Amino acid sequence: MKIDFLAHNCYVIAGPCSAESKEQVLQTAEQITASKKVHALRAGVWKPRTRPGTFEGSGDKALPWLQEAQEKFKLPVTIEVAQPEHVEAALKHNINFFWIGARTTANPFSVQELAEVLKGVDCTVMVKNPIHPDLQLWIGAIERVKAVGVKNIAAIHRGFHTSTKNTFRNTPMWQIPIELKVQFPELPIICDPSHICGRRDLIFDVAQNALDLGMNGLMIESHINPDVALSDKNQQLTPSGLNELLGNLQVKEKSTANPVFNQQLTNIRTDIDKIDEEIVNLIKARLQLVEKIADEKREKHVTAFQLERYINILKTRGEWGNKQSLNKEFVEKLFQLIHEESIRTQIEILNKKSA
Ligand code: PEP
Ligand code: MN
Repeated sequence: MKIDFLAHNCYVIAGPCSAESKEQVLQTAEQITASKKVHALRAGVWKPRTRPGTFEGSGDKALPWLQEAQEKFKLPVTIEVAQPEHVEAALKHNINFFWIGARTTANPFSVQELAEVLKGVDCTVMVKNPIHPDLQLWIGAIERVKAVGVKNIAAIHRGFHTSTKNTFRNTPMWQIPIELKVQFPELPIICDPSHICGRRDLIFDVAQNALDLGMNGLMIESHINPDVALSDKNQQLTPSGLNELLGNLQVKEKSTANPVFNQQLTNIRTDIDKIDEEIVNLIKARLQLVEKIADEKREKHVTAFQLERYINILKTRGEWGNKQSLNKEFVEKLFQLIHEESIRTQIEILNKKSA
């Protein structure tokens, strides 16, 4: 079956985290196709579990179940492959739509082994981002698959592991998939809000966010009875929950031909350009003051970094931001960056060899 990610406003892949039984696979496929909004069925066959001794997927015996679903519902089936044997087994069951999981993408040896077995195979491959926020590693895996001649490739954004706890199971770090799009504008990107969120109540907002950022599709986990799911039970939606979510999502237009709107946009952007130029000029003026400070510190042999001053800058700027109804964390982050450049400039001056 031909997979054309860009033929739809939003290419939707849905299905269980893991294929658990023939009935579960067929019932899920039947219920999610009822919405007519799902373009492919997903299911994990071999599961990369963090700890051994937990359910590691049904393995080869799940392949006939998926083949049956693919044929019965005319729905392409996609599975995760992590080893060459997975690809070989899947192809025997007419499954040629694969994704490379986050743990595998992180290992160039494994990706290369998979790429070798995909050489000359008529297939579609989606590459999930690696677990940690390393864009180059993600790009590297895509390049390895491309290099063996696979033509139909997409990326899957499933969020990134961070050591600090936050609302998400895997932090979206949206700037990373955006940077991927900047570097590879033709590459379709599918968002996997299920693995980003880790809990079903957050999935809608993340999915809508992904579409608003211009992502090309979604991969969402759905299980006929999430409470008894053998993996990822907290993040799987029932098929009716999935259908409701898909019905509520708004797929917006990339642009419009409306001349009034376009003129308004141009006008506002001209004003924004002026402000941005002022910001750059102000940053330059600020750095010139920093250079003066550095000259003084150099003379008196004083360190570039002054902890109290740094803490005070973040605190006061954060408060000023708050007063202006700006996001305090954003303002703090901005000044962290400005201060970092200030320290870099000062250290350069402090260590300059005298003429
Ligand atoms: C999955 O899709 O079920 C999966 C294991 O995903 P990831 O590789 O993103 O953790
Ligand atoms: Mn899962």
